[in-house]
Amino acid sequence: MALWNNDPFGNNGSAPFGQAQMGGGEVLSADSVKCPSCASNIFYEPQLDSMICRKCGNVYAPITLEPRGSLGIKEEHDYMGDSDMTEDDKKRHEIVCNSCGATLVTDEHTMSTMCPFCGSPALISRRMTREFKPDYIIPFKIDKENAQSIMKKWISEKKYTPLGFRSKSRLTSLTALYVPFWLLDCAVNSDLSGTGTKDSLVAYEVHSKLTYYVKGLPFNASIKIANKLMEAAEPYDYSEMIRFESRYLQGFYANKYDQLPTEMTERIIKRIDRFSASNGEFIAKKYTSFDLREDKCLSWLSEISVKYCLLPVWFMTVEFGGRDYQFAVNGQTGEACGQLPSSNAGEIRDSIIGPYPGKWKSIAGKALMVIPVILMILLLIPSVSTLKTNLIIALSAAEIIIALILIVMFILKLVLKHHYGGEIKSSYELTDYDKDPGLDCYYDSTRQPDVEIKEVMIPNAVTVRNGNGRVIGENSVDL
Ligand SMILES: [Zn+2]
Ligand SMILES: [Zn+2]
Repeated sequence: MALWNNDPFGNNGSAPFGQAQMGGGEVLSADSVKCPSCASNIFYEPQLDSMICRKCGNVYAPITLEPRGSLGIKEEHDYMGDSDMTEDDKKRHEIVCNSCGATLVTDEHTMSTMCPFCGSPALISRRMTREFKPDYIIPFKIDKENAQSIMKKWISEKKYTPLGFRSKSRLTSLTALYVPFWLLDCAVNSDLSGTGTKDSLVAYEVHSKLTYYVKGLPFNASIKIANKLMEAAEPYDYSEMIRFESRYLQGFYANKYDQLPTEMTERIIKRIDRFSASNGEFIAKKYTSFDLREDKCLSWLSEISVKYCLLPVWFMTVEFGGRDYQFAVNGQTGEACGQLPSSNAGEIRDSIIGPYPGKWKSIAGKALMVIPVILMILLLIPSVSTLKTNLIIALSAAEIIIALILIVMFILKLVLKHHYGGEIKSSYELTDYDKDPGLDCYYDSTRQPDVEIKEVMIPNAVTVRNGNGRVIGENSVDL
């Protein structure tokens, strides 16, 4: 955009944070830059607008290589034999599912009869093949009975869940699973742009730099579990997070991590960018109205650190209509979540007779009661007029018609319920997951945010707004 050839923050590039310098597919030569910490080759990571070391996880600013923290974790190495196995891992074993390949870790006394991910009984128990050393854990607080009743209630409250699904979701298959998470702490340096107006008339192109702090933002590290499902189960109360000890694994299963934090930078920055966009109010309050340009919302991270934490989840997979549905109950807070099949037929049925009986049935029902009363009064008045006769005939006819309509609606409802209530394949929509809890839960309020706003008046274009702040036209004026 021509207006921003002169960058308000004095950067040479056209984008305020130098993103454009290397953004357009131009990558620093792979061999040219070494990690200042471990001397491995480091690469430019466009998602983070940073240089990243795949070996130690350290993150650096492009060009200056100023440290921006680390996405690294303590490395878990593969075991070659028993000799290098830790004492803790000698008392554990891995359970591998022959059907879906899931790997679970548990203590030597805990056995499993069924895979929590695919329901297969084809499970193999073997010695540990990779080190297992999470840093932290939040122990289970919700027991199985409690989780089952929470899940049952949650499913029963959903309106269009097919009856066939309800009977199929055997809640006894809820499994207590410790899911591996990376908890991210970092400073978010976001660049928000938009158009603001003051005094209803003068428009400004606004650029702002906002630095805020995020603490304990969780990222699911297991590829077997849907990320959106785990986001819907958030938040967890970290005040109950403690150092991981082997005894917490007794009677429980833990999923091993499949993805390192350095492998999920896109997911990390997408979620952070959503947070940053929601932060537009910091700027908006300085203007009469403010339109944030979300496509111009860029964030880069510094002071990055991650913790490896196991979080408690009651987990269940239900196969229905040729598809797997995953459900979870947060093992600490009891929050239930998942994606349910939603019966199209149920919605069609309700669009014909569902919502109407509530409203129209009560009107019709009242008319059905009131009309005979009016008829009685009319019959008691001793004058014989054509008008009175016609009125009595009309009211009697209306009474019969209303009664017939109600009978037809009742029969229609019975027939459609019988027809569409059960299982019909390929006519299900999926309900949406509950939204993740957003920035409020992970905003580090112990640290002051830093806001810097630069504005330039838009020449020759004044946005005219009505009293509600809506744009009602653009005028050209001499400034
Ligand atoms: Zn390194
Ligand atoms: Zn399986």
